[in-house]
Amino acid sequence: MTPAFEDILRKPDLDREEIKLLLSAEGDRMKALLRRALEVKLARLDNCVHLRGLIEYGNVCEKDCLYCGLRSGNGNVERYCLSDEEVLSCARLAHELGYGSVALQSGERSDPAFIAKIERLVREIKKIDGGSLGITLSLGEQSDDTYRRWFEAGAHRYLLRIESSTEELYYKIHPRNGKHSFQKRIACLESLKRIGWQTGTGVMVGLPFQTQDHLADDLLFFKRMDVAMVGLGPYIPHPDTPLYRLRDLVPPAAERMDMTLRMIAVLRLMMPEINMVAATANQTVDPQGREKAIAAGANVIMPNLTPGEYRESYFIYPDKACVKDRPDQCRSCLDIRLAAIGHRIQYNAWGDSLAFTKKAKG
Ligand code: SF4
Repeated sequence: MTPAFEDILRKPDLDREEIKLLLSAEGDRMKALLRRALEVKLARLDNCVHLRGLIEYGNVCEKDCLYCGLRSGNGNVERYCLSDEEVLSCARLAHELGYGSVALQSGERSDPAFIAKIERLVREIKKIDGGSLGITLSLGEQSDDTYRRWFEAGAHRYLLRIESSTEELYYKIHPRNGKHSFQKRIACLESLKRIGWQTGTGVMVGLPFQTQDHLADDLLFFKRMDVAMVGLGPYIPHPDTPLYRLRDLVPPAAERMDMTLRMIAVLRLMMPEINMVAATANQTVDPQGREKAIAAGANVIMPNLTPGEYRESYFIYPDKACVKDRPDQCRSCLDIRLAAIGHRIQYNAWGDSLAFTKKAKG
């Protein structure tokens, strides 16, 4: 390894060329990158992993993203929507398991009944043990007014993935019609930040047509947007989607996994105190994927709490990992897997982004 490479690993501000150099690291260089990212994470955040109990509220979606199994154009999926009681019992379970936070995720809907129901559910979840659960929402693009209503109801983190920060690539994976707008996605992220949400975004890694330049620009976009959290995961082709036709342009699973790890590691160097999710998609392409993501710099895991009978209908991508695990099995499995890599779960805490809380304190 050249001294120049070692120096880049220690630079506080990386430029586009340096990011690209790190994203192309292989062999000893890749090991050095991952080692450095772990060192930075342990120094700035410690070895704690935060949990968000994932509640997949429903799979009805108004959008038609070309990569996603929940797209409205997919007639091969049985649609569902959890009842209030089902959502609340998942939230109570999260509290009993000591998860500290829940994440409510769903296909995108903007009808008044949906907006009011989410607002009501957030208020009800906040009543559990005097507001002890933190709430993340991941419910797509909404109006300023809706974001404000849900924030005032008590949710405080919002994840809205940009999927690609390059407009041209964005429109290769989203149809160019009135329902999908790159500019609107950016405007939504800005609106969330303005309102005061801990705002998160992210991208898929290994998309057809995606280059190292696109990925470097994604990392610079996260930095420029000054987001509090990021979710990165490998793209997994879904057979019931239009993008599946281009699967020959998708790199092999091992390459997508390695690139995801490099993305996580480089971002940890660039934004040492943000929260980063070790996405379940990592586990789907590699049985050790989530642990590898944690060891590369991620610090959040989202164990699934969705009732078992609905899980197989929430296939954004196929062969999702841990679909059959019960929540109690999942918790002990995570404890063991994380201990094996020198990490531990921080139970009964919201696990907010340090980058965000520091800024909020001024
Ligand atoms: S990615 Fe989200 S918005 Fe797009 S089709 Fe899937 S669930 Fe709907």
